[in-house]
Amino acid sequence: AKSAGNNSIRFFDPLMQVAVEERARLENELRRAMRNRELIPYFQMQVDADRRPVGAEILLRWQHPDLGLVSPATFIPLAEETGLIVPIGFDVFEAACLCLTRWGKHAATASLTLSVNVSVGQFRNDTLIERFAEILARTGANPARLKLEITESVLADDIAGVARKLDELKALGLHLSLDDFGTGFSSLSYLKNLPLDQIKIDQSFVRGILDAPKDAAIAQSVIALASAIGLEVVAEGVETESQRTALHDIGCRLFQGYLFGRPCALAEFETALGARLAP
Ligand code: C2E
Ligand code: CA
Ligand code: CA
Ligand code: CA
Repeated sequence: AKSAGNNSIRFFDPLMQVAVEERARLENELRRAMRNRELIPYFQMQVDADRRPVGAEILLRWQHPDLGLVSPATFIPLAEETGLIVPIGFDVFEAACLCLTRWGKHAATASLTLSVNVSVGQFRNDTLIERFAEILARTGANPARLKLEITESVLADDIAGVARKLDELKALGLHLSLDDFGTGFSSLSYLKNLPLDQIKIDQSFVRGILDAPKDAAIAQSVIALASAIGLEVVAEGVETESQRTALHDIGCRLFQGYLFGRPCALAEFETALGARLAP
């Protein structure tokens, strides 16, 4: 239980009771959703400086029978709290692997990458490495085409232990991306000491890039620094042509955002891919 303090009255708050019941109901719903395969991987394209697709980030959606599409902003935190994020995360990883195996068979799609989000609860799980190894072996996916997106919250744990785990993930051949860069307790020492391959500039900086000089300056410095130490940089949440141009002007070469495509189901994504990959 939470420490009581001057909030102890909340245990008698009828509104709080509703919240508890609502949460329990949602948790059951989420378990049912997993059984019924209602959690659907959506794909959002990432492009290079020539607007050619280089891959996609997988973003989950909950296709709820009554509520329609539920945002991950709603159910991922619940999945985190209940531990359901662990099996959910492995399902996403497996879906990515199966997709990569299929893409690997055709020249046009063989070099595409897939990024998957790994949240704190999943990262901490003791079976992470063995499960990833097992899924990679079973699906035959090329781990070099897979990028695990972790956030700075993962790095808040005992950093030596985290670094060891990141090394183990690298030893599997997976690539590592630091998501939402600049929003948490970013430390430049992370960039130096952890085996990262990529950072993602958070969309809050992209949003400010045209008229918030501080955002622009931070984005510019981060891109220069990351590039100088050999990290790939992706800008996320790119919505307009002028944002893309501004980012390109300060050295960014990889982009993701509504300008290039919204997250969509696999069939729709592959159609968009076909159109963009065509010579
Ligand atoms: P994120 O990893 O930072 O993902 C980027 C979010 O920005 C996505 O929201 C995406 O749809 C949205 N986005 C992309 N382009 C644009 C744009 O141009 N403009 C704007 N305004 N937004 C854009 P989404 O899909 O709602 O996902 C929210 C968060 O949920 C993700 O943030 C991620 O933290 C989490 N999430 C989603 N799928 C998974 C998953 O499979 N596992 C885990 N652990 N977390 C996930
Ligand atoms: Ca992400
Ligand atoms: Ca992000
Ligand atoms: Ca985010």
